[in-house]
Amino acid sequence: PLQDIKDFQEVLKASKNVIAIAGAGLSAASGIPTFRGEGGMWRKYEAADLATPEGFIDDPSLVWQFHHYCREIARQASPNDAHRALAVLSQPSIRKNLAPQTRFTLITQNVDHLSPRANKELAGRIPPSYYQEPNLFEIHGRLFDVLCTEETCGHIEFNLSSPICQGLAGAEILFENGVINPIVDEEQLPRCSKCGSLARPGVVWFGEEPHKLAEVDEIVKSADFCLVIGTSSSVYPAAGYAYQVKDNGGKVALFNLEKTDSDRKADFRFLGPCEEFLPQALGFTKADLKSA
Ligand code: NAD
Repeated sequence: PLQDIKDFQEVLKASKNVIAIAGAGLSAASGIPTFRGEGGMWRKYEAADLATPEGFIDDPSLVWQFHHYCREIARQASPNDAHRALAVLSQPSIRKNLAPQTRFTLITQNVDHLSPRANKELAGRIPPSYYQEPNLFEIHGRLFDVLCTEETCGHIEFNLSSPICQGLAGAEILFENGVINPIVDEEQLPRCSKCGSLARPGVVWFGEEPHKLAEVDEIVKSADFCLVIGTSSSVYPAAGYAYQVKDNGGKVALFNLEKTDSDRKADFRFLGPCEEFLPQALGFTKADLKSA
């Protein structure tokens, strides 16, 4: 509703330190399935088997195939208007309704790397002297990082191209049909390019600590407006950030298809597709979002 948008923009304009917490719903319009939503790709498997350190020890082949499958989907996807709106919001020289000196930080739980890609697209159409490096935290890591499992090595390699190893080619077809090829020999799985040990996907699994928690906590502590975008708010610590901002006297705005756990604390609720409602609420036109 228009009045909601007007009130939302008034709060935005008055804010000094805005954060956005994003989840899988942010990337839904890019064709990346959410976990809990309909058609979630985990529907046939237990999270514990696919995204925990124990699951990886039990069956590294299955876990790698799952991540390769996700990685392929993400690699072939493109940022949508919600990613673009957040990219514009992180640029004081072009954004609207947010004072130039206001800090904006995006904390995403997504591992698809679409937010940095939206920033990169936008960077291409702003004069370099006006472009500001966005405050962006990918707290659950990235599907495109390949991490050495040998602790003393710990080498991380970022690689957007695919396939990362021949053994995994075709995993997506098998996953799509709900059948997993159980036999990809461990020697065929991605290895560390430095020491040759078995490598693992560089995403944060259940039971592991998100990246840069202390730094993010400091920012959340001083935030006065929190946008919660496309997350079921069921994974901590991110799920608690909206509560924290609210408890500190700040305001909370929700962008989700449906009501979530953070709902009770929300000052604004935009229930609908965030790729439409987020740019609208922020006051951005299609032209504002258009990439080069
Ligand atoms: P989730 O699947 O639990 O929740 C997604 C939420 O997004 C739901 O509440 C749903 O109603 C909402 N949603 C779906 N489409 C939407 C749209 N177009 N507009 C607005 N809202 C929409 O996801 P989560 O809360 O992010 O937690 C799952 C965990 O899984 C996270 O840790 C995340 O790292 C990971 N994950 C990441 C990706 C990705 O990188 N794209 C995809 C799936 C899961």
